Amino acid sequence: MPSLTQVMVHTPAHSQMAGALTYLSETTLPPGTLVRVPLVQRELLGVVWDAKAPERSAPSLDSTKLRPLTAALDALPPLSVNWRAFITFAASYYQRATGEVALAALPPQLRDMSSVQLARRLKKLAKSTAAVALAGADTSREPNSRDHEETDIAMHSIVLSEEQARAISQFHQNPGPFLLFGATGSGKTEVFMHCTAELLARAPDAQVLVMVPEINLTPQLEARFQARFCQLYGDEAVVSMHSGMTPAQRLNAWLAAHSGAARIVLGTRMAVFASIPQLKLIIVDEEHDPSYKSHEGARYSARDLAVYRGRLDGAKVMLGSATPSLESWHHSRPTAEGGRYHRLEMPSRIGAGQLPLVRRVDMNHQPKSCIISPPLLTAITQRIAQGEQSMVFLNRRGYAPVLQCTDCDWKSDCPNCSAYRVFHKIDRTLRCHHCGFTERVPRACPACGNPDIAPMGRGTERLEEHLAELLADIRRPDGEPVRIVRIDADTTRHKGALESQLAQVHAGEVDVLVGTQMIAKGHDFRRITLVAAANPDNALFSSDFRAPERLFSLLMQAAGRAGRDAAVAGSSEMWLQTFHPTHPLYEALKTHDYPAFAASQLKERQQAGMPPFSFQALVRAEARSQDIAQGFLNAASRAAAGQSDTAALLAHLTLYPAVPMSMARIANIERAQMLVESASRAALQRFLTAWQAVLHSTRSLPECKGVLRWAIDVDPLNV
Ligand code: ADP
Ligand code: ZN
Ligand code: ZN
Repeated sequence: MPSLTQVMVHTPAHSQMAGALTYLSETTLPPGTLVRVPLVQRELLGVVWDAKAPERSAPSLDSTKLRPLTAALDALPPLSVNWRAFITFAASYYQRATGEVALAALPPQLRDMSSVQLARRLKKLAKSTAAVALAGADTSREPNSRDHEETDIAMHSIVLSEEQARAISQFHQNPGPFLLFGATGSGKTEVFMHCTAELLARAPDAQVLVMVPEINLTPQLEARFQARFCQLYGDEAVVSMHSGMTPAQRLNAWLAAHSGAARIVLGTRMAVFASIPQLKLIIVDEEHDPSYKSHEGARYSARDLAVYRGRLDGAKVMLGSATPSLESWHHSRPTAEGGRYHRLEMPSRIGAGQLPLVRRVDMNHQPKSCIISPPLLTAITQRIAQGEQSMVFLNRRGYAPVLQCTDCDWKSDCPNCSAYRVFHKIDRTLRCHHCGFTERVPRACPACGNPDIAPMGRGTERLEEHLAELLADIRRPDGEPVRIVRIDADTTRHKGALESQLAQVHAGEVDVLVGTQMIAKGHDFRRITLVAAANPDNALFSSDFRAPERLFSLLMQAAGRAGRDAAVAGSSEMWLQTFHPTHPLYEALKTHDYPAFAASQLKERQQAGMPPFSFQALVRAEARSQDIAQGFLNAASRAAAGQSDTAALLAHLTLYPAVPMSMARIANIERAQMLVESASRAALQRFLTAWQAVLHSTRSLPECKGVLRWAIDVDPLNV
């Protein structure tokens, strides 16, 4: 007699089939088993889910109408009960269907595999793992034992700093979660590796998850972890997971983590969903980075989920940053004041590397509309003369050259978006960075016919050109002309381009590095002694309350790029060109005083009742007109008062009126948003869950026909 089996599949985000679907199975499959099931005309991958106790009033299922499973991929051990609980939580917290989150968490290639193909793949992997293990066992006898000794010596030749030793011992004595608050270059990565080493050594099957914010930062960290751990545990022991990998690579890494062959899983935000059955430690490096928050589908925060997953799996969690998010900083206040995280502090840089001296150039007193002020130019020239490297960056990719008419007010706006198109010199086009709309640069102003149209603003391309002009007559110590390299999204579009450009910098072939904030983050540049923010002011007066937090963290990160090599660090500098030199943010930066900056920001946030002192969600809607998009949101807001389960919660939260999003139009689609705020996370959660049904029914009203889509963003980062 076939048994009834609950299966999670990826149903459309807002379909009413949010729960598991029921299928017939010849054998009883344990929950967590992957299966293939028919749905309408298609065959889908699904996961056997825990059967809910049938509700008494539920109509009995007519088993003659149920369809059987197509196949069970039972060569693969089932996904664990913890993994399923984690997925269930993530889906409910971020207001998505469980099936959507579960299936998005699996490597895409699994979706198209038959059970035979999967079994074959597993066999092949098992063979290669065994071969590696065998090779390791063989060689470790004689010739390689010296290698092992050397590794051992290498590992122990690093004498931990006092601060590192204290952080590590606190890590062992406390359950966490931990916030490792350490200056750039204080040796946080060493601490991560040390804690990883100890946990892996403690149990032969223990696994560790290490997360980094961006793919660009994975190669460096990967190399450090591989150098330390592959010799101990084999080449298979360290795997990566990020969107830059091929589907086959992703599947292999996922299988290695799931089977336990991988001891260390290193990845971007998606890795938080990996199946890691013996997870004992989760590390979140640069935990403040906005890239941990997803922008599509389930808008999850991998950092927040890491903390939850750690608790569920009994794994320790360590978040690390030189400029923690204000949320994490607030959570790590003293226990007596309600703090839940354990703060570990490492204020000093390793070795003699001092943090750079911060210099502010008052742009009010510089030649009008100059891009590189004379004092900064002099400083860069001196660095070149000393054979040192400088880095100049723009802190916004959006700060790209827009074409402007010098006569009338024409600017190169995009006909489809509320944005300006960007001038690309290489192919003389105007391109919209949002919808992609591209045209050749017009010969004359389309509005008044004036042939004199010129780029305004300072894109990195112009900055590079401008610097090249300014430094044209300067020579390096070897008599050669100055070498400038630009690193930004455009120059790194091709695979391997970033790596080769970085290699040039590391090899000392570059004197001045120009770029976007991309170069200010994470990279371990050894010879840079001068870092300059060309125009950091624009974030000071943003409508987004998190803009100052992001600016401060970016500038601290950037400052951290200077003087990392103690040998050249003596006089490293961070330059800021600003019209507001006495702004408190820059004052705090001058003394590298994150705690002071955080305290002042938190005070403002508390007074204004903003996160982390309140909890927020945004509902975003897209439609052909603002009226329809906003009308839908406002109607759903009014309807909340008319329904008992949502109305009961309204006293605990504020629903603001709908407004256009700051990018109000993309590709001719109008976007609006509505902010929901509450002092209680639980009340907000209960409200959102109940309000979903209201949003669904509001959308089917005739006046909301033009609504194209809507989505809830819990704990939004950009308000
Ligand atoms: P962070 O991650 O905090 O920026 P890292 O862990 O990358 O710092 O350390 C900065 C540099 O200092 C690295 O080159 C690292 O190898 C070195 N380092 C870290 N800890 C020690 C130590 N205890 N002794 C000597 N060098 C160290
Ligand atoms: Zn004009
Ligand atoms: Zn556009």
